Amino acid sequence: MNYKEALQLSVFKVITQSAEELQMEAYVIGGFVRDFILKRGDAKDIDVVAVGSGIELAKQVAKNLPTNPKIQIFKTYGTAMLRYNDIEIEFVGARKESYSENSRNPVVENGSLEDDQNRRDFTINALALSLNLNTFGDLLDPFNGIQDLDNKIIRTPLDPDITYSDDPLRMLRAIRFATQLDFTIEAESLNAISKNSSRIKIITKERIVVEINKILESTKPSVGFLLLEQTGLLKYILPELIALKGVEEVEGQKHKDNFYHTLEVVDNISKKTNNLWLRWAALLHDIGKAPTKKFNKRIGWTFHGHEFEGSKMVYQLFKRLKMPLNDKMKFVQKMVLMSSRPIVLAQDLVTDSAVRRLVFDAGDYVDDLMTLCEADITTKNPKKFKKYHNNFKIVRDKIIEVEERDHVRNFQPPISGEEIMNTFNLKPSREIGVIKEFIKEAILEGDIPNEYEAAHKLMLEKGLKLGLKVND
Ligand code: ATP
Repeated sequence: MNYKEALQLSVFKVITQSAEELQMEAYVIGGFVRDFILKRGDAKDIDVVAVGSGIELAKQVAKNLPTNPKIQIFKTYGTAMLRYNDIEIEFVGARKESYSENSRNPVVENGSLEDDQNRRDFTINALALSLNLNTFGDLLDPFNGIQDLDNKIIRTPLDPDITYSDDPLRMLRAIRFATQLDFTIEAESLNAISKNSSRIKIITKERIVVEINKILESTKPSVGFLLLEQTGLLKYILPELIALKGVEEVEGQKHKDNFYHTLEVVDNISKKTNNLWLRWAALLHDIGKAPTKKFNKRIGWTFHGHEFEGSKMVYQLFKRLKMPLNDKMKFVQKMVLMSSRPIVLAQDLVTDSAVRRLVFDAGDYVDDLMTLCEADITTKNPKKFKKYHNNFKIVRDKIIEVEERDHVRNFQPPISGEEIMNTFNLKPSREIGVIKEFIKEAILEGDIPNEYEAAHKLMLEKGLKLGLKVND
């Protein structure tokens, strides 16, 4: 492979020139080189190592670039970052690192390119290309990273036990890269991850979530979750999923293993949507099943109220992982809470009023909810598989039909509280709520159309029944 092709962006020429001016060596390293060889699309980040001060090199590059971009300096890390043509370029001085027991922040000294490659997490992330005039485009691959790329292997440059113990975040990164790239973690590395799994406790929740999100955004997220489970990491990160593991049998009645089922649902939904939060909803849709599981002699295993329990657990889980408790969290909660609604519908004759209620309750998320329910079909019986999909198709058609006719999505009642107050000369009071609810119910039940005239008439009737007098 001609690696010069990787360096066609004009910014590389400017880095070369700037490094020459400072009489420094410079190399592009890490993800950029890896992803070029894997042909993983256009780069958004470029990491540059300077043998010397990364900050000085960044300043010189900014001066030489036609746009003279601002540079952001991170003094504590000795790094500097600038943006050019929508690409983030990060500069760091080559360094040697040594770690202590309680922190993933090492003691840092200046070092050579080789020292810097030694501190990288994986052989495939330690590949560097020279940006120096005489050797421009030469590959520096001290750990056979190219071979590991070819064989699709995740391997650490140094002893994996030390590598993962030094910075336990690397365990998650290994699993994340294995999932994203469809690579295998080499056996010694995998053992070292299992051995060091409890050290994940020293990693901040925010960093952990970044990696979980990247696993969830992969084509087949189950690969990552299975590795997390197998290495013992999952119990520290998402114990709620571990609690779904296993099959119990009482009096010959079994329930399915909800952990493996969940992973199938996540893979299914990942074929249908890139929406990270819908993927989270798939991951968490059954977490309420562990605390609600009961065996009933007559009907077998039950998980009554697991959707409600699960939606409460979503909040606790997001809070524990320091994830934002915003509309995304509420969306996941809503999906979990409503996750069985369409299933119930699809089992019975689909009535208009049931569909209207579903659309009313799910609002704009009704399509996402249907997607989740379709992904939830994991039966291995082809007849049932077809039947369930077909039932959901009927529900989907009915949703379109009811929507076109009744406009119940984001339904605003055609009669406002204010109008009720004016009509009956009321101060804010309980009756207003009663009348509003009565009108809403009548529309959802299909007793009246979702229109002003009909709702107005019903308001007058209900008011009279409640003993109210119309204001003249
Ligand atoms: P992606 O952009 O997909 O996350 P990347 O490899 O560019 O991939 P970054 O987190 O941007 O990931 O890291 C850039 C480079 O820094 C990596 O390729 C690797 O060489 C090194 N690196 C990052 N994190 C670590 C770490 N925890 N331990 C050792 N080296 C690391």
